[in-house]
Order: sequence, then C-alpha cells, then structure tokens
Amino acid sequence: MLTAQTEQDSRIKASEAQRQQSYFCPSCREQVILKRGTRMIAHFAHRAHSTCRPFSESESQAHLVGKWQLAEYFGVSNVELEPYIQTLAQRPDLLLKRNDRQLAVEYQCSSIPISRLQQRNQGYSSYGLSVLWILGENYLQKMVSVRHAEKWLQYSERLGWYLIFWQTRQQCLIIWHHLSLDGVGNFRGWAKTSNGNQYNQQNQMSVKAIEKHIQRQIQYGLYYRIPKWLKLQQFCYEHHGLLQDIPAICYQFKDAEPLICESPIIWAALMTVSLAEKPVGSLIKQLDLEKWAAKISIYFEGAQLIQCTTQQLVDSWGRQLMQYVRLLVQHGCLKVLSKKSWQLVAIPH
Ligand SMILES: [Zn+2]
Repeated sequence: MLTAQTEQDSRIKASEAQRQQSYFCPSCREQVILKRGTRMIAHFAHRAHSTCRPFSESESQAHLVGKWQLAEYFGVSNVELEPYIQTLAQRPDLLLKRNDRQLAVEYQCSSIPISRLQQRNQGYSSYGLSVLWILGENYLQKMVSVRHAEKWLQYSERLGWYLIFWQTRQQCLIIWHHLSLDGVGNFRGWAKTSNGNQYNQQNQMSVKAIEKHIQRQIQYGLYYRIPKWLKLQQFCYEHHGLLQDIPAICYQFKDAEPLICESPIIWAALMTVSLAEKPVGSLIKQLDLEKWAAKISIYFEGAQLIQCTTQQLVDSWGRQLMQYVRLLVQHGCLKVLSKKSWQLVAIPH
C-alpha cells in the first residue's frame, strides 16, 4: 500500500515517510514496514504471515506504480488514495471526488475469483458507492474473447459494452468500447486512449474462413464426443435439424452482444432450427422468439456479466433478438407485420 497511519493517527504517503518512525495499517492496526529503494516505488508492507484481510494481498510493483499514476491522472486534489471504509472493511485503490459525487476506483493487475469480485461490488453498492474497475496492461493481451473478459464487461449508453485499462508505460487509459462478438466469438470494437489515439479493433475474418472454423469445431466436437457439442447436436435432432447443416444465413450473424461464451453463429443456428419447424406462412411473434431463446439458453455458457444491471442484460438480449430478426427480414425469410410480429415467408437455408 502507498499510505499508512502515523502514531498520531494521521495518513501519510510512503514517499514522505521517515525511516525511524513507526507506521500502522489503518485496518488491522499492525505495524507495517516502510519499503523504499532505488528500484521500487515507496510503499508500506505488512510483516510476513499477516492475516490482515483488505490489505494482505501482496501488491506487485506494477500495481503500486499504476495506482500512483492513476491518482495523478485523475488529479491529486480530486483523489483520496487508499481510503479505508471501516463499515465495509474494504479499501478501494482510489476514491474520486467530483462535486458531491464519489466513485471508487479499483485497479486490478492480478486475477481475482469471481466470488471475491462480486463480494466487493456488493459491498460498494450497499454503501451507495459506484465502482470503476480499471485493468492492468497485462490484461490487454489476454482479452481476446468474451471468456476472458466476461466479469469485467460494463455497459453504458455512451460506450456500449466496454473495458478500461491503464498502461503504465504510456501513462494513459485505454478504453475498448462498443465491443461485440465476431463470428467465432472474439471481440470486435473500437479503442481510444486518454491521450487522443483512436483505432479500430476489427480483425476481419472472411465469412468463408469463419465457416471453415465453425465446421471444424463441430466435426472435432462430435468426433471426440465432447458433451457440449453432443448436446447441441441432440437439440438439432429433436427439432429435425442437423448441427452440420447450419443455414448459410447464420454465418452472417456477427457483431453480436457479448452475452454468451460462444460463437453467435451457433446461437443463430439453434434459433433457426427452432424457427424452421414452423410451416411457411406462420405468424411469428416476439414472444415465440423469446421462448426459443430461453429454451436454447441452457445449451450455452452465459457470460458472467456481473458489472451491469439486470435491466441492461434484458435490454441487451432484446437487441440481440432484434438483430437476428433484421437478418431474417433482410434475406426475405420474414415479412414485417408489426413491431412485434412477422410472417415466415421462407425457411432460412
Ligand atoms: Zn493490516
């Protein structure tokens, strides 16, 4: 940690501390050790085998440096460094204060179990405090697919699905925003940095390449009898379809919301298998689509989107369904009757 309590019970930064003085942890009150050298950022550490909960996680140099830089980035006068919230026994890395609003900032460099993350978020929320999670740059390389990012994804009207990182070398924030999934379930979207760079993050795979990738996955999954793929195949059988015969139209289903840890094409394929059971001419209502989506949801591993509200998730699923409907309308499979009903005019193939 970058700060500790003095004997007079005031807060002091490690960079301003004196070697001959005693300093204490604000949580467990144990004496802490001042660590200051030429190759490390000044900080305080507990003695070995300390059982102090909120402060015991060993902090890497990268974490300490990043935390310090973030405090400077947000403006030292607006920031409280490592404030200890006694009622929660929690200590955010920073507390941002703007006007009368406060925002806890957590800077995460190491991995954290989902249960702990949830616990911390619930703590802040019970305290009426919003929290912003900023990820260390070591996360940047890992965040290829939704599976690695699911618990960090946040949603806002302005940024869509987004992730925020801090780069210690460049000393800037990177915001990945308007994230969606491509045909194989990897992220697409935009990135901007706090020093003004903007770039596109689309590693465009051709429809042909995506089709090949998906078909290979299915063949492999069925050949080696991987339960997930066998279950998907079973669903298709029960609905008079074949997993290998994904209608061509489904390969166009991309830029999907990051709601499942799977290629959105497979999701579209199961929806289409359900739809194709209806005779041509049938009335299709939004309720039908919702019913099918709910039914197939058990075949997919849902993303653990714990940083957003239930309403945001409901809205996101709504957008996903409408995106699927638009695709069918564009390809002449559905005819629009009203805002929430369509006529099946051709079976997707
Ligand atoms: Zn302690």
